Amino acid sequence: MPEDGLSPNEGSELSERASAMGERASAMGERASAPGRHGGARSSHSAWQGGWLTTACHHPSPNHGERPAGALIDLIVIHSISLPPGVFGGDEVLRLFDNTLDWGAHPYFEQIRGIRVSAHFLIRRDGSLIQCVDVQARAWHAGPSFYRGRGDCNNDSVGIELEGLEGGSFEAQQYETLIALCADLAQRHPIAHVAGHEHVAPGRKADPGAGFDWPRLQAGLQWPAERFPRSVI
Ligand SMILES: [Zn+2]
Repeated sequence: MPEDGLSPNEGSELSERASAMGERASAMGERASAPGRHGGARSSHSAWQGGWLTTACHHPSPNHGERPAGALIDLIVIHSISLPPGVFGGDEVLRLFDNTLDWGAHPYFEQIRGIRVSAHFLIRRDGSLIQCVDVQARAWHAGPSFYRGRGDCNNDSVGIELEGLEGGSFEAQQYETLIALCADLAQRHPIAHVAGHEHVAPGRKADPGAGFDWPRLQAGLQWPAERFPRSVI
């Protein structure tokens, strides 16, 4: 699950961007900008427009900011999310990310009322890929975090949410899309690390959890074990 990693001085930036992006998001709605709506990033020749993958669906989230100047995007953080937890296929996660979730619609939503979060990508159970934040922007998914000797991982990571339940298993199509997406990202950024939210915020976060098959991801990517957390490969 993503988290709000806002520092107080980001609040004003947020409100300005939120109103601007909110208008844009509602005007655009959810749309596929290229053929192959559910094609994910299966092609190794995926096209990008700036930091947007044109083969993904786009559902822009206003919950982002600028990365620090010179940020080295070398980390992919993998999460799991479903709202309510364990219920798949609805639009609640996208509504959480675009700040239109009805907090009163389910008792669980009360626990997260008002949070402003996002991730760059969401991979549905059927493997379809939705992009919510420009990869060049700083999405709000990791919260307080530390990895490979650096803190505040939102600054220089790409956040990928898998629709799923923390600790539960994930679908073959999700691994397929995730593997293609990680490979694609690594062609554009010097990705040297892939880790779970549980690894960048140990003891505080536990997603994606024990049901995520790290060896399967490594085998699909054929990346060296050094790029993954020591405890999982
Ligand atoms: Zn998470």
